[in-house]
Amino acid sequence: MNFKIPFSGRAHLYTQEELNLIKEVSQNAVPLTQGKYLKEFEEKFAKYIGVKYAFGVNNATNALEMVAQLCKFKEGEEIIAPAHTFTASVYPFIKKGANVKWADIDFDSRVISLENIKKCVTEKTKAIVVVHLYGMIIPDIEAIAEFCKNNNLILIEDTAQALGTEINGKKAGSFGDFGVFSFHSHKNITTLGEGGMLTCNDKKYADIIPMLRHNGHIAWNFERKYYWEPAMGNVDLPELDGEYLMPNNYCMGEVEAALGSKLLERIDKINEDKRKRAIKFIDEITKVSNLLEFNRINDKRHNYHLLVAFAKRKRDEIMKKLAFEKGVQVIVQYYPLYRYDLYKKLGFGQANCPNTEKFFDNIQLVS
Ligand SMILES: *Cc1c(COP(=O)(O)O)cnc(C)c1O
Repeated sequence: MNFKIPFSGRAHLYTQEELNLIKEVSQNAVPLTQGKYLKEFEEKFAKYIGVKYAFGVNNATNALEMVAQLCKFKEGEEIIAPAHTFTASVYPFIKKGANVKWADIDFDSRVISLENIKKCVTEKTKAIVVVHLYGMIIPDIEAIAEFCKNNNLILIEDTAQALGTEINGKKAGSFGDFGVFSFHSHKNITTLGEGGMLTCNDKKYADIIPMLRHNGHIAWNFERKYYWEPAMGNVDLPELDGEYLMPNNYCMGEVEAALGSKLLERIDKINEDKRKRAIKFIDEITKVSNLLEFNRINDKRHNYHLLVAFAKRKRDEIMKKLAFEKGVQVIVQYYPLYRYDLYKKLGFGQANCPNTEKFFDNIQLVS
């Protein structure tokens, strides 16, 4: 093998056409936020995912925070979430008042499963946060969605890593009440380093998300004689089922939105290229070592945002050999969230997740 793979060392390869677009939109868009490019990106994105509504935001963490607000947690209410994920999947919900029950991962798929969700359900459970981690759509997602519907639980799909993946022709992010997507620099497409999208199908959410996202801005609800009276526009509190929510500014700029639209045209190709590279890498490396176990999925269920392996033994020896002899820099990622100081201090440092423990302690990731 003669791979040279640094971890996260690649520049983002925008095409000349995309670079031209960045220049053109930054010079010509008026205003540079909340304009026609955002609207176009949102429409294209909703269509691509197969949902009714999509809202561009400045990052996925804020999209998750908006969703957490829309859940309207009452004292003692719980979410169920995996601990084997990026921290932003979970802490926005704690910030907005939820308690967390940590669900274990399934050992083979390495993501949350219906069986493990069921073990955590109590009469306090209000929402389930599932994460299509590594860019693999959760194998159980259809059953999880069905379960949530039957039990009146809000389902949130953290699809930050899994844009464009699908199961039986239905895209990740379209199964739950909310889909959350990231265009951060590390993700399969990036809108200049930061960006995100929030999707949903329910009009009651879609009606207030723009206000929630943009400082409570809303048009006056009466006819005006002059456009400047009583003021240019109103600001109000977004209201959901009789309760008020506090707004914020989570807007995405026009240049990012225009670039996002353009990149969406080639996301399937980007994913396919990543998948091909991953499959080649898996096949090559398993020829020389049988110590690493990969999820080898050669179809649209996986976009290989990250390539992950479980080391049956000798993890650190393998890592050293790969890094220092083969030029393949691998890392260990997704420290179980309940082991972090942040979650311990918030009172969520306890969990019963043996698969999460075993997997993290033997995992390695190639970007
Ligand atoms: C990247 C990521 C996020 C956060 O995305 P940002 O756009 O950086 O806020 C959330 N969840 C997961 C699983 C991620 O990988």
